[in-house]
Amino acid sequence: MFSLVDGSLYAAELNLWIDASAGRERCYVSHGHSDHARRHALIVATPQSAAICRSRLGDGLAFETHAYHEPFELGPARLTLFPAGHVLGSSQLLIENERGRFVYTGDFKLGPALTCEPATVERCDVLLMECTFGRPRYVFPPREEICAALTAWARRTLEEGATPVVYAYSLGKAQEAMALLGGAGFKLMVHPAIERLARVYSEQGVELPPHLAFDAAGAAGHVVIFPPGGNARALAELRYTRTAMLTGWALDPGARYRSGVDAVFPLSDHADFPSLLRYLELAAPRKVLLNHGFKDFVHELRRRGIDAEFLEPHAQLSLF
Ligand SMILES: [Zn+2]
Repeated sequence: MFSLVDGSLYAAELNLWIDASAGRERCYVSHGHSDHARRHALIVATPQSAAICRSRLGDGLAFETHAYHEPFELGPARLTLFPAGHVLGSSQLLIENERGRFVYTGDFKLGPALTCEPATVERCDVLLMECTFGRPRYVFPPREEICAALTAWARRTLEEGATPVVYAYSLGKAQEAMALLGGAGFKLMVHPAIERLARVYSEQGVELPPHLAFDAAGAAGHVVIFPPGGNARALAELRYTRTAMLTGWALDPGARYRSGVDAVFPLSDHADFPSLLRYLELAAPRKVLLNHGFKDFVHELRRRGIDAEFLEPHAQLSLF
């Protein structure tokens, strides 16, 4: 059913591309991050992801939207989108036909999030799963612990008369940071790209705490949220800052140093190692295909008796 064409997954029977990296005729887009959302002639996505794509990719796009858990027919198969817990609107794709159930996770996270629907897991026969943090050392601390550490850092920074600058990807992580820090009582100033997406969140029913567009002259007393690498010149106008990065890679030795920030916090929108294993327990597939991650996760799974394979960019698939 599937083949990989130029590194992108294509279901010929359905005439459907999946998170294709180049513009295609008809493509399922799992979520609005730029490595997944490209301009296609027709984008199949959740209504929330469609709104995010519209905001990021501009006008002139055509969408076919499907709400979570509402199956629809496509060719000889039945498809269902269900939450991935990664960013607002992020979905996983279930394809059912007479041969069984196939799930494509896209980027996902298990557990709670403040600004998107928590992921659900479907039992399936064949699973194509991302494994970004597929090494045993990637065990994220409980969210409450990360949040407590981040808010304590921001409070300390303000008390010392500096402006805390938090780097977080403009889609997803930044809104999570806004909810978390605004919810803890901090005044927020955000980069314009983050503000634009926050507006989409609120149009889609996810209210975020009050916030202002970044303005260096009025930033004192606020927590500033910027995308990593987002307009360093604007930030240079702030006289005294402390910086922090929100990333799962915070668990890497030297992460703070490598990111060039004063602090790192392991707030991630991906599953950590135990969550990847937990997902497999719940989905109970007979075959696991892996993409977007460490190839050695394959060996971790095989050691556990799971039939797993890493999806090489030019592999031919006739599994399903
Ligand atoms: Zn993503």
